[in-house]
Amino acid sequence: EGSKSSELPLYVAHVAVEMAPICKVGGLGDVVTALGRAVKEQGHNVEVILPRYDFFLQSPLLGATTYEAEFAFGGTYIYVSKCVVEGLQCFFIEPQNGFFSDTVYGRKDDEVRFDFFCKAALEFLLQTGRQPDILHCHDWSTACIARAYWRDYHNYGLWKPKVVFTIHNADFKMTKLGEAAHHCQRFTTVSPTYAYEIGGLPAFAPQGAKFMGIRNGIDADIWDPQNDPFLPMAFNADNVTEGKAAAREALRGRLGLTGWGDKPVIGVVTRLTAQKGIHLIKHAAWRTLERGGQFVLLGSAPDPRVQAEFNSLAAQLGGENAAFCFTYDEPLSHLIYAGCDMILVPSMFEPCGLTQLIAMRYGSVPVVRSTGGLRDTVFDVDYDKARAAWEMEGSSDWQRDGIDETNGFAFEGTDGPALEFALNRALDAWYNNRAWFHSLQKRVMLQDWSWNKPALDYIELYFAALKS
Ligand code: ADP
Repeated sequence: EGSKSSELPLYVAHVAVEMAPICKVGGLGDVVTALGRAVKEQGHNVEVILPRYDFFLQSPLLGATTYEAEFAFGGTYIYVSKCVVEGLQCFFIEPQNGFFSDTVYGRKDDEVRFDFFCKAALEFLLQTGRQPDILHCHDWSTACIARAYWRDYHNYGLWKPKVVFTIHNADFKMTKLGEAAHHCQRFTTVSPTYAYEIGGLPAFAPQGAKFMGIRNGIDADIWDPQNDPFLPMAFNADNVTEGKAAAREALRGRLGLTGWGDKPVIGVVTRLTAQKGIHLIKHAAWRTLERGGQFVLLGSAPDPRVQAEFNSLAAQLGGENAAFCFTYDEPLSHLIYAGCDMILVPSMFEPCGLTQLIAMRYGSVPVVRSTGGLRDTVFDVDYDKARAAWEMEGSSDWQRDGIDETNGFAFEGTDGPALEFALNRALDAWYNNRAWFHSLQKRVMLQDWSWNKPALDYIELYFAALKS
């Protein structure tokens, strides 16, 4: 169906409150950038409309912005500036009432601010005579685009767009998500299994015919062990063992893991919230050390109680075989993905998850709880052979007949023993069958988790939205 993308170029305008790397909080920010780039590479015109945050002033990642437009709106004046970020034309909406501040989320008036941003974004399109084919909005923060467009703009000059809505996390503000599902032409979530898990919710079920799951990919240029400034040695599937050994020593040095020697290193890179399986992360830290491994955690905890729990874990376990870094640190995350043998993702729920995909690109074997997008992307070496073969079949790039496409270790339950079912098998393989473990690392590196295929699915969806 790739031919679809060679039909008329589409004009797609994303409206979002996050975008990597200038204003990324989580996976949503990564998706806007990487999906936008992948669709643009197929010959379409992609723009991104964002709030202009105060912290942009300090961001070295944002180049010089230039003037685009200004207009009176909503009892204030709106300035719009622009800049190309990661190859995508971005527009920044800046109301003169000082409405947007120095954080993306976390103020009591988030909802009011984002609703205002959405309406100002629509007004910007109208005022500058733009007529995108597709308005693509994301999560609760830009959900109100769908209804506001059809009610206040479609019959008043901004006539052309159809609205596509993507749910990156259905855990927040269900009323807003349901309203967008009702008013948009197509809506998606970020993996087929998560679509199955949430599709029956009352907010979405009546709109099921317009709904589908398209798994996220990762940007293969940004996450590339062959070309990564944060690694001591470039590597690919052919020299994965040497490349990862170099990264492991750099990681140990950086984190003061002085318990050198031949030990498996298990990593976690995450927001420390209930969604991510906090109790299982802690359990894995204990278990890994008991079994003679090393444990590395990079995570930031928005909730001070969670932070306090991890501070006490770090006090008990931290030292020569465990390191806990409670910050947001992009360069360190690269070194962890490359330097670990396994990356643990024990989420309670996970719409897609990017960390397991990045891990595989860097030859780290994912150990995951089989939920949402984790289930769609990680196939247990012992139990998912048939499912792996079936799932990988549809993707022509990696159809290598007869090759085992399993790529990790998975578990289903939510308690410590459930996690150990997967973690112990991974550690056993590392200790007892090293050659096989290395071949598994090589295999996961060769799988294609980029946006190449999902971008084509989105383009097909955009065309379907045009016709509805
Ligand atoms: P979510 O969007 O729920 O946070 P995802 O797995 O979809 O989870 O995306 C997480 C992204 O954020 C990944 O790119 C991961 O590397 C990054 N990330 C998470 N925590 C940190 C951290 N403390 N430091 C650096 N990067 C992080």
